[in-house]
Amino acid sequence: MMFLRRVLVALCGATVTFFLVVLVDLQLRIQTREKSGAIGAAGRGVWSDSRTHPGPPPGPSSPQYSWGQPQGRGNALSSALNRSLAALEQEIKYRRDRLSGLRGRVTPRPPLQLSDIFIAVKTTGRFHSSRLALLLETWISRTKDHTYIFTDREDKDLALKDYKVMVTNCSSEYSHQALSCKMSAEYDVFMASSKEWFCHVDDDNYLNPCALLRVLSAFPPHSDIYIGKPSLDHPIRAFEQLPDNSTREVRFWFATGGAGFCLSRKLAEKMAPWASGPQFEQSSAVIRLPDDCTVGFIVEQRLGVPLLHSPLFHSHLENLQLISPQQLPQQVTLSYGLFEKEMNSVEIRGAFSPDTDPSRFKSVHCLLYPDTHWCPRPFPM
Ligand code: UDP
Ligand code: MN
Repeated sequence: MMFLRRVLVALCGATVTFFLVVLVDLQLRIQTREKSGAIGAAGRGVWSDSRTHPGPPPGPSSPQYSWGQPQGRGNALSSALNRSLAALEQEIKYRRDRLSGLRGRVTPRPPLQLSDIFIAVKTTGRFHSSRLALLLETWISRTKDHTYIFTDREDKDLALKDYKVMVTNCSSEYSHQALSCKMSAEYDVFMASSKEWFCHVDDDNYLNPCALLRVLSAFPPHSDIYIGKPSLDHPIRAFEQLPDNSTREVRFWFATGGAGFCLSRKLAEKMAPWASGPQFEQSSAVIRLPDDCTVGFIVEQRLGVPLLHSPLFHSHLENLQLISPQQLPQQVTLSYGLFEKEMNSVEIRGAFSPDTDPSRFKSVHCLLYPDTHWCPRPFPM
């Protein structure tokens, strides 16, 4: 009897111990599964964020997790590590492929070339020999292929056949209407071209091609740029003629045509409703001001794009003697003209005397392009 009781007690103890062992084992298995699941989830969060991209497709190398298979704690951990390593490798490959795809699409733009700039020179028949000939000999000889000369008559005396000459139907008088007619032609020919920039100069301007290229190259492509120098120290005041015959006062800056100015193509395109075809002359008539003011009116007033005031453009309305000889090579445009019966021109101790070169353009040209055939050779050392 005593023996039987002992056996029963031992059996009960063994049963309790067995259930305890089973319970602990079950607990351990559950914990292992939970940890493995957590690693997997964190891996997806880091390596394939579905907000930014759908993530790499599951590949053959990514092991499928099987909850049904019995495995130890170490097995589960190494499987989870393998899985996130495979996911990481796939993500790297996916991103590398995307990057090389982008590199192919975002090819860097080639730098701006001088030939991307459309240069319009405004002249008139009676200035062909006194002004235009000097420009052809100097800076236009370096920019022939993309310089367009807008005039009002043919010329048999001046050898113009190698140049791009546009003989307009504009009147050859100095009136708002005649000047706007030529500017309108300049704008239309530029728009029909594929050039990136439109630059206008008068026939008493020296244009330094390298300085111009340097200035325009600094602007990001496809931006709205109107650059030049005003002749006034305040915005001009004009009275815009309204359709009901009343007027309204408008104020805006404009770059004086006598110092030259440039417009980016993007901006020139936006000007079209007021500048293309007959509209430029109509815009000019609306404010009863000449061509350069009309450009300022369209850009600043109609489009709300401000003029960029540059100190590198010069007309003969300013004192040109204030430009130091050291500063000369950086200037984009220069000019010359009579001011109170005195010649206003830049000061340069150059290759030619002021008597033989009153505009100083020949001396400036020899400073910038000493290899020009008619420039005096420097003395041999
Ligand atoms: N111009 C013109 N037709 C004329 C007079 C002048 O096309 O009847 C041009 C001239 O060739 C120059 C610009 O207008 O390019 C300005 O002329 P100018 O230098 O004589 O006058 P400014 O306005 O500088 O005093
Ligand atoms: Mn002038």
